Amino acid sequence: MDVRQWDTYVQKVYSRKMTSVTADSILDRFRRVGGLLEGHFRLTSGLHSPGYLQSALVLQHPREAEACGEAIAERVRILGAQAVLSPALGGIVIGQEVGRALDVRALFAERQDGKLSLRRGFSLSPGERVLVVEDVVTTGGSTRETMDVARAAGAVVVGAAAIIDRSGGTPDLGVPFFALATVSLPTYLPEDCPLCAAGLPVVKPGSRA
Ligand SMILES: [Zn+2]
Repeated sequence: MDVRQWDTYVQKVYSRKMTSVTADSILDRFRRVGGLLEGHFRLTSGLHSPGYLQSALVLQHPREAEACGEAIAERVRILGAQAVLSPALGGIVIGQEVGRALDVRALFAERQDGKLSLRRGFSLSPGERVLVVEDVVTTGGSTRETMDVARAAGAVVVGAAAIIDRSGGTPDLGVPFFALATVSLPTYLPEDCPLCAAGLPVVKPGSRA
């Protein structure tokens, strides 16, 4: 199935209404546990943003992680993945849950000397159908890198999935991509920040007033 066929499939099977209800319920889960904050934040990078996203706060609750995994699995089942591969650390928990829901192996790739690779005896077979799973896709960079790891092992990447797409537009991965929810969280240099210009106090995410 190529990307265009995938898009047609998604549009046909999932009405816009159902997709938006699902996305809303996912974002509600994030808000409930403080994993999605709206306001004026100073990120670790030093940039300012009107939003803060931390999936670990949702995934620390096993039932929440399980629900996200099942929701992703339901939509990507048609791709026929035989294994799930995730980048460590952020992708491990959700990868495990998607693997559980699909009843396939869940592996992770991790950095060694700055390069993402399979360690711990993990291997993929030539031609094995792999789904790449992440918690949050920001630029698509780590997703692409994880896809490269699978291909280097001879596997076939059949698609990619995430809980949240914050790329600001569907990332061009060259394979079918699915996210449970899409959020737009722009970042600004402090000197260009419209929230600073409006005089809103900036807070560091994770700090509790
Ligand atoms: Zn600001």
